[in-house]
Amino acid sequence: MSNLPSHASPTFAAQPASSNTIEQLSLGSDQIALNSRIDELRGDAVSVTDSDRGDVTPAVPASLLSPSFTPPATPGGTFNPAQLLQQAQQPTSSKPPKLLSRLPDVECIVRARIPTTTGAEMFLHLYHNDLDNKEHLAIVFGNTIRSRSLDKVRPGETEMDRMIRGAYVGKLHPGRVSSWYEEGNAEGAKDTQNADESTPSQAPLVRIHSECYTGETAWSARCDCGEQLDEAARLMSFPMETLSELASQQSVPVASNASGGVIVYLRQEGRGIGLGEKLKAYNLQDLGSDTVEANLLLRHPADARSYGLATAILVDLGLGEDANPHGIRLLTNNPDKVRAVEGPNREVVVKERVPMIPLAWRSGGKAGITSTEVEGYLRTKISKMGHMIQ
Ligand SMILES: [Zn+2]
Repeated sequence: MSNLPSHASPTFAAQPASSNTIEQLSLGSDQIALNSRIDELRGDAVSVTDSDRGDVTPAVPASLLSPSFTPPATPGGTFNPAQLLQQAQQPTSSKPPKLLSRLPDVECIVRARIPTTTGAEMFLHLYHNDLDNKEHLAIVFGNTIRSRSLDKVRPGETEMDRMIRGAYVGKLHPGRVSSWYEEGNAEGAKDTQNADESTPSQAPLVRIHSECYTGETAWSARCDCGEQLDEAARLMSFPMETLSELASQQSVPVASNASGGVIVYLRQEGRGIGLGEKLKAYNLQDLGSDTVEANLLLRHPADARSYGLATAILVDLGLGEDANPHGIRLLTNNPDKVRAVEGPNREVVVKERVPMIPLAWRSGGKAGITSTEVEGYLRTKISKMGHMIQ
């Protein structure tokens, strides 16, 4: 290669994606270009005003819905951060979101009743699937939403087996022997019927939530994931609170749950890049990048999440268009998530998008998360990721 004339385009082997380190970001003129790029992007972020949000959806990175792109390896052991950052700005609204051609297979392995600290109850459903080895979850509020794969009779299982894996109707109590009806409960026969055809009476609330260890468990104020999870649960637990009260008064299951709700909890930490890479991205953010730039500089898509599993879980819970004429109401600020959650063949129908306004904005800063980090995070979501927070 040393014999190449100075004007020739050198050929180099592509570098493995992980071989570039942060040190390589210190690149003289490239660094200057990067800084000016970042300044430009920041300018865009700041310029989004209330009136802008209503009619113009900012450009969405191609990678938002599925990990269709990874920044390419570049020749010569260096890469061009400015070029990577450009990809964050490419308008992609003309491209349809990339969806899986079929839904993955999911199976609810176990379900259990969880009383919560707010007094509401929910049923935690644990899923296995044929895409990855992670245990994805569905947090179900209300009595009408049931998992088909959980309720299905498995060869050779006993009534005790069924109750242990949570495939029972009504409530468990010491001495119960049947998974299908509660002894001494006149409504038992009816419950058995309803177990197979659990149809919500109106569109239930659904939230697709991606795991965020820092925001949900480690008190991080860099994002509002913990707050969003709490708020989704609060909204969904209204009917259940009423139900619990009624049920305790009448000691029978109450079938009048208006809607119920589901939080599908996907184990895709850090927008799908994992906790280790997310922590690196936080260090880049402290060095001046925003959340999108940081991911790109680490050679990850701005958003590596996908939602096929969520769609498949919703179908398993009887909320797909084959079993639920009402559709769902999706709690999200991300319009692209609506299409992604509906699935490749519109297996689930989103009837309504319900926005989630940050608590701090609703309360004028009196409640919710207030930090410079979360402000920047929300601004980037609006300016670069098409989120509509109104
Ligand atoms: Zn978070």
